[in-house]
Amino acid sequence: MSAPPGRMRVQVFHGPGDLRFEDAPIPSPGPGEVVVQVEAALTCGTDVKTLRRGHPVMIPVVPTVFGHEFAGTVIAIGAGVGGLGEGDRVAAANSAPCGQCPLCRAGRPNLCEDLLFVNGAYGEYIALPPRLVRANTVRIGAALPARRAAFAEPLACALLGIERARVEAGATVAIVGHGPLGCLLAMVAKTRTARVLLVGKRGWRLDRVRALGIAECVDASDAGDVPAAIRALTGGRGAEVTVDATGRPEVWAQAIDAASRGGTVLLFGGCAPGTTVVLDTRRAHYEELTLVGAFHHTPELIRRALELLETQAVVPDALITHEMGLAEVPAALALMADGQALKVLIDPKRCEPVP
Ligand SMILES: [Zn+2]
Ligand SMILES: [Zn+2]
Repeated sequence: MSAPPGRMRVQVFHGPGDLRFEDAPIPSPGPGEVVVQVEAALTCGTDVKTLRRGHPVMIPVVPTVFGHEFAGTVIAIGAGVGGLGEGDRVAAANSAPCGQCPLCRAGRPNLCEDLLFVNGAYGEYIALPPRLVRANTVRIGAALPARRAAFAEPLACALLGIERARVEAGATVAIVGHGPLGCLLAMVAKTRTARVLLVGKRGWRLDRVRALGIAECVDASDAGDVPAAIRALTGGRGAEVTVDATGRPEVWAQAIDAASRGGTVLLFGGCAPGTTVVLDTRRAHYEELTLVGAFHHTPELIRRALELLETQAVVPDALITHEMGLAEVPAALALMADGQALKVLIDPKRCEPVP
């Protein structure tokens, strides 16, 4: 069912467990702002977590529009916007750094002390604030489908991780976790001609990932002992780079365990607050392990991600396992929560009755 003239359909987050499908005025752009008609949005594990328990950083105030991976077409431009015009197709990140704080000035804008987060991908239209327009809204070519461009944000996160881990050609990279980000990390590592092991639990998701041919898939439900499985495939040495892509402390420990002498452990998945891991000090010191965290993305990496998508160096389309309309976002997130989907494409043009 479409919205009345001048109004749009949108998913609004009112607090943990409370997502409502509402209609709202189509935003009109203030100075420096841009309004985008969403062509494609993608579900993300972060949305599942946020819906369950809220997210003080990404969503400081409720109610707010929801969803953060999207691409679309500019339909209105505020005063003073340069470099973008009505009709331009764009992808935008879900945040913009301030450019002023010590970390921004040190070239680490992903750690900006004042990251501005933007939500609202699960709507027919989204308003982009001036800072996001300036820093992190990128024009895309006519040949790049919106559903692929919408991967820019998670792909940029994967790029940051692979960059931080300094993956070199010929290295073995063992990624534990075969969710969408594990897969994107694998695809990016592949572009560096690394050997990639993707470790996951048996089931249709692992079968699906195996069928994509992006990595050697290791069934951890058989192996039981993840580090032993990784060692068995690396001549007993472990992998030069190991990656946690699950956000579970026990997997962080496995990743540390499975790293080779001189290896790097990429701590990519965010764990629940207050969790800790135990570190074998002998190995950390005498084997010179490097432990690196990786959080979020930078404006430069958003652009690089879009380049990889434009040139088809990375084609993540097959990670989209389902397609649904705006009204079905709760069902889509439930599929994600159950591990029954990798990415769900939310297509605002798909009409279905308001529940
Ligand atoms: Zn995301
Ligand atoms: Zn900053």
